[in-house]
Amino acid sequence: MGAPLDRSATWPYEQGEPGRFSYARADHPTGVACEEALGALDGGHALLYPSGMGAVTTVVLTLLRPGGTVALAEGAYYGHRVLLDHLGGWGVNVVEFDQTAAPPDDVDLILVEAPANPLLTMPDLEAAAGHPAPVVCDATVASPLRLRPLEHGCEIALHSATKVLAGHDDVVAGVTVTRDEELRDRLHLTRRLAGIVASADTAWLVRRGLETLEVRLARQEETARTLVERLTSHRSVEVVRYPGISFLVSFDVADGDAAGRVERGVRVIENATSLGGTRSKLEARHRWEGDRIPAGLLRLSVGLEDPEQLWADLEQALTQA
Ligand code: PLP
Repeated sequence: MGAPLDRSATWPYEQGEPGRFSYARADHPTGVACEEALGALDGGHALLYPSGMGAVTTVVLTLLRPGGTVALAEGAYYGHRVLLDHLGGWGVNVVEFDQTAAPPDDVDLILVEAPANPLLTMPDLEAAAGHPAPVVCDATVASPLRLRPLEHGCEIALHSATKVLAGHDDVVAGVTVTRDEELRDRLHLTRRLAGIVASADTAWLVRRGLETLEVRLARQEETARTLVERLTSHRSVEVVRYPGISFLVSFDVADGDAAGRVERGVRVIENATSLGGTRSKLEARHRWEGDRIPAGLLRLSVGLEDPEQLWADLEQALTQA
């Protein structure tokens, strides 16, 4: 099925010279086959990484200089903030901004998220693209089937392919996609020199996931809409966030204790982290993110199970809220 899995780390030279593939830290055929499929989805040149964070790290090392500032969307994936703070020692500064409006003036790189995980705001991509700094849009949750950031003026579309692209919670991977070939080459150079390289197994699993992406996403989205409707009228649920696309929902119960009881109460839905996989997952995010989000916030990643079974599970868990 699909491209063969080639785990080679090296390939023989052709008439004494390196051919298209010579050493897997630069490129390997299974990775390139996966990148071609990913590039077609987002409309650009894709590069694969061993994680979403590997992709972000490569982007920051390539585009930012010491003393530079990243404008990060408020409420975006908390790992981005933690990474950028960690890179403070290398001269990376970070400011957060409301991504539904224009980014601040004096910044060198803009990182928005569509939609932001877990507050689920959507960025104003037009306002971001009007800024002179390059714009990176993490579209992990939207997926290229619901948003193609390069068509909205972003320089880089970025995904944690660990989530819905691979879709089965059995691989960690990341992707960047650019229209500009020179930018792709600069990212590739950083990736190769730093060794931020996805294995052939990773590439094979991501590519296999893409074959069912469309049907998985359609089903997950339809179920998400049903659950959102019912959560909205549930008496223990104070706020429901859903951007109208994709599989991710967040909702608030009264407080952190109530959220803890609900997450421990689910039986069909897994009480686990991550999102985008075939099995639904629920998690109170306060344990990770602290006061940047409401204490009673629960993040629900809707999977492929029967929607009525999922609702029955949520309903019984919510009786403990
Ligand atoms: N971007 C978003 C929106 C995420 O949710 C995550 C992980 O949860 C990441 C990036 C990081 O991806 P990875 O865990 O593949 O490194």
